[in-house]
Amino acid sequence: MKNIKKALSKYWGYDSFLPLQQEAMNCINSGRDSIVILPTGGGKSLCFQAPAVIMPGLAIVVSPLISLMKDQVDALCECGVPAQRIDSSLTYEQQKEVFEKINKKQLKLLYLAPERLVSPSFLEFLKKTDISFIAIDEAHCVSMWGHDFRPEYRQLGSLKHLLPNVTIAAYTATATRQVQDDIADQLNLNDPKMLIGLFDRPNLIYKVRPRSNIVKQVCEVLDKHKNESGIIYCIRRKDVDDMCDKLSAKGYSVAPYHAGQSQITRKKNQDRFIKEKVDTIIATIAFGMGIDKSNVRYVIHTGMPKSLEHYQQESGRAGRDGLEAECILFYSGGDYGIWKSFSRDLPPQPQQIALEKLACMYRFCTSAVCRHKSILQYFGQDLEKENCQACDICVGELDCVEDALIIAQKIISCTARLNQQFGAAYTSLVLVGSKDQRILQNNHDTLSTYAILDQYPQKNVRDWIEQLVGQLCLEKTGEFNTLTITEKGIQVLKGQLTPRLLKPVKKETKTRLPKTVSDSWLGVDKELFDILRKLRAEIASEKKVPAYIVFGDAALRDMARKTPITEEDFLNVKGVGEMKCKQYSQKILEAIKQYCIEAN
Ligand code: ADP
Repeated sequence: MKNIKKALSKYWGYDSFLPLQQEAMNCINSGRDSIVILPTGGGKSLCFQAPAVIMPGLAIVVSPLISLMKDQVDALCECGVPAQRIDSSLTYEQQKEVFEKINKKQLKLLYLAPERLVSPSFLEFLKKTDISFIAIDEAHCVSMWGHDFRPEYRQLGSLKHLLPNVTIAAYTATATRQVQDDIADQLNLNDPKMLIGLFDRPNLIYKVRPRSNIVKQVCEVLDKHKNESGIIYCIRRKDVDDMCDKLSAKGYSVAPYHAGQSQITRKKNQDRFIKEKVDTIIATIAFGMGIDKSNVRYVIHTGMPKSLEHYQQESGRAGRDGLEAECILFYSGGDYGIWKSFSRDLPPQPQQIALEKLACMYRFCTSAVCRHKSILQYFGQDLEKENCQACDICVGELDCVEDALIIAQKIISCTARLNQQFGAAYTSLVLVGSKDQRILQNNHDTLSTYAILDQYPQKNVRDWIEQLVGQLCLEKTGEFNTLTITEKGIQVLKGQLTPRLLKPVKKETKTRLPKTVSDSWLGVDKELFDILRKLRAEIASEKKVPAYIVFGDAALRDMARKTPITEEDFLNVKGVGEMKCKQYSQKILEAIKQYCIEAN
């Protein structure tokens, strides 16, 4: 461990471990197979990269995508760690060069796709090579239960027979138990140590809002995050294009990404986002896998995802660097209907599972329970804190109405008077006493429940109906999503159960993030940070690598906090190792000195 600590400081400029990193490294060191489950941003890569540097031999890293391999290899080379990849994008000559380096024992890490690793000719080559261990990244790809099954990962099951003496360490951020167990089975691991981290991401600030004027709502978020990187997820390709046109017209720096575009266009837009030529990428869920960009400061969903697994994955792309990031989800009852209709073509059992997941997702949106707690509970963990200080519920941005029981009873009895044959929109119109033609024709203006909530705007009543659906007091059934009353709804009518109904969104309050997170701006000279950010972009552009590979936001903030003037000071910045100090100290220190002089 002493050697690992030295390497951590020398190559990465870090002086401590993140939770479970040390345990994970210990497994590799002692030759024990392991499965390491840490959330996105939990620091999985370092768990195998640091041991690889100090152990004799070559570590093999299996990764599903060329973009992921490239990113990690680039980042390692930036730190001065000898790493390479072999993939189909390399020319024959380039591949030959890598093999030569392996033969000369000049590499510490080699990144490969799974099918290449298990190919007979490659295995023959490896048998003659001194392998330190094998790391399998994105290990959930081996499981059909996961969200990203890749058949070629299945072949990795043979590794234990083919290379029985080599330690295997598998890594994933997928939290479901079923997938975790499946990884151990499929890879035939030998009594693996399971290291399961806490899935909470305290630096993510979750907010959930009913969708109204979505472009305006999105602009409000973007205005708060000027010059910062973010992702906007839309459900359909058409929504991506529409949103992109509208935001571009307003002068926002955006690019679209979806599966309907040519591969070249997609790649170009993704590159512009990664290289920070545009601030925001607007995308369907086709975007994300393989994106390691660490400084995504916000993720906006303009529609509700179909499951909390998807939401956790997509929103989880924010704040990988551990610094604060905002995740805002705009939903409407209509999204529920869209996903429900998509699931109609599935066979009965998968359909049942999809609908259950959808119901959980919808409950997440409409309930008034801490968002961090809700997500953790879904994955079988609990949040010990009573107040996460990082979601709309806990910071009190949303208030509950005091007479929730009476309002809910009025809504449910109106549903009963309408013989449970109408949808949410129509029912809300009856409740507020609308003179809509259809209501008059149906004589529903004569019902006793007509206009009994006429003191509220229809939008509020409509939201409350959705909240009652989310809390399982009402259900949307059939092709037209007609409201029907559930067992729980009857309890509400009898006054045996009081649901929570939220007041309309108040003006936004300032979130008080947990101390560790809010400290990330403490003492940072923001003006200097902006100067260094521009300098980083210039360096990245010259070197043709993403900005976050040169320095992460955390390192940049630490520079703007410590204002190092000498190389020695510079090495004390978190995230500055020897190699980066050598490469960049001159440019960065010069900029800092200049700034200090000008600022007196
Ligand atoms: P994951 O693969 O689990 O999503 P990464 O390996 O990309 O996470 O790490 C997330 C971020 O945390 C990166 O910016 C990385 O440099 C940083 N990091 C990793 N280990 C440490 C550590 N021990 N101290 C400080 N920062 C770390």
